[in-house]
Amino acid sequence: MSIVRNDWTTEEISAIYNKPLLDLLYEAATVHRENKDYSEVQISSLVSIKTGGCPEDCSYCPQAARYHTDVKAQGLMPIQEVIDLAKEAKSQGSSRLCMGAAWREVKDNKQFDRVLEMVKEVNNLEMEVCCTLGMLSADQAQKLADAGLYAYNHNIDTSEEHYGEIISTRTYDDRLKTIENVRKADLTVCSGGIIGLGETNEDRIKMLKVLATMEKHPESVPINALVPVEGTPLQDQPRVPFDEMVRMVATARIVMPKSVVRLSAGRTEMPTSEQALCFMAGANSIFAGDKLLTTPNPSVKSDMEMFDILGLTPREAFKNEKKKAAVEA
Ligand code: SF4
Repeated sequence: MSIVRNDWTTEEISAIYNKPLLDLLYEAATVHRENKDYSEVQISSLVSIKTGGCPEDCSYCPQAARYHTDVKAQGLMPIQEVIDLAKEAKSQGSSRLCMGAAWREVKDNKQFDRVLEMVKEVNNLEMEVCCTLGMLSADQAQKLADAGLYAYNHNIDTSEEHYGEIISTRTYDDRLKTIENVRKADLTVCSGGIIGLGETNEDRIKMLKVLATMEKHPESVPINALVPVEGTPLQDQPRVPFDEMVRMVATARIVMPKSVVRLSAGRTEMPTSEQALCFMAGANSIFAGDKLLTTPNPSVKSDMEMFDILGLTPREAFKNEKKKAAVEA
């Protein structure tokens, strides 16, 4: 079993990231097999419970109100619709449901009360419930925890140095503050980033360093490849080369050996052979469903065919491990 370290230096992470690809892949696969059942991959589903109309200016996001994209703003979903989608996702093998709302921050109002109800209902389905709702106070994080939330997603996106090139309506410190509030409520943290935003390799390494030097590593680390959307400032960004995705996944696996590394946005462009290398490198979760919030994603059917080819099986909710540990303690 690997020792979990949170004193990584930029130089150490850079040395890992820049290894010859096959050496990196071998090392990451070894760490993965020491720490996880490599044949199990968690299927998560992402539901956009409130779409578009967001006041923020994230350059990659079609949900920002200021960009002219095909996304049509929609109000907060009714609770029953979320329950129905959660049941459908569960029947297709998902053990985690992430509910995303295009908000700058959570406000203490009836809409938040409705989200708390959604969390309770989905938790009752024995799924891991995650929310991504924007910035959050410590008090709001506690309310979500009390409702049964398992995880809160708040990506740091990129390095602190590159952050200002991508988003101007909030700061890196705002991001870290919300993650701190999530920790205070004893929720698990889901935080990762996106590559393909015009960042350098050094930015990617620095982003991984921020995550891998947190007092407690995020339990979940999504690695996304930008899906450029027409109408956003990053619409003309080139596709992320597959080897760069493998490098990110492998480096994340090595520096955060116990975390769930999620192969997230960008899979539509990746054939099975490329995704196989990411699973080999330590990715142990994917998002399923035709859409990832508003961008395309492989169908559940094609993912199941891929699992068959690669000998992978969907994993039960990680929260059940927490429960078992509590019972055994
Ligand atoms: S990424 Fe989130 S916060 Fe940024 S514009 Fe999109 S919905 Fe808003």
